[in-house]
Amino acid sequence: MAEDCVFCKIVAGELPASVVYDDADVLAFADLDPKAPTHILVVPKRHYVDISELAGDRDASAAVLAGVAAVVRTLGLNSYRTVFNTGVEAGQTVFHVHAHLLAGRPLTWPPG
Ligand code: AMP
Ligand code: ZN
Repeated sequence: MAEDCVFCKIVAGELPASVVYDDADVLAFADLDPKAPTHILVVPKRHYVDISELAGDRDASAAVLAGVAAVVRTLGLNSYRTVFNTGVEAGQTVFHVHAHLLAGRPLTWPPG
């Protein structure tokens, strides 16, 4: 657990979250400030700063993608977008890697 990491605290049960999927390696919960009608964050339970660090652990990488697929199945989504913001200039604000899973209305492309 990384000190002062909001997502580590959610994983540890020290902060509340609206959980939609939970397994040994991954937790998925609703984003506090949703950018689409469905906006779920899928995080590995172990702390990795970003997708580059996560990629060094192939099992954890696969677990995050499987977690996305599990949420998609659970919510019955047909069409969705997954985003990993990486670095401040790309909009990353929480430095515990997370997949944004967005759905629920047509999403424009490319994003701004
Ligand atoms: P990013 O800007 O890509 O790092 O995404 C961080 C996301 O985490 C933002 O969409 C925030 O709304 C969301 N967020 C921050 N704190 C919490 C929290 N305690 N529970 C749920 N979502 C959060
Ligand atoms: Zn963390």
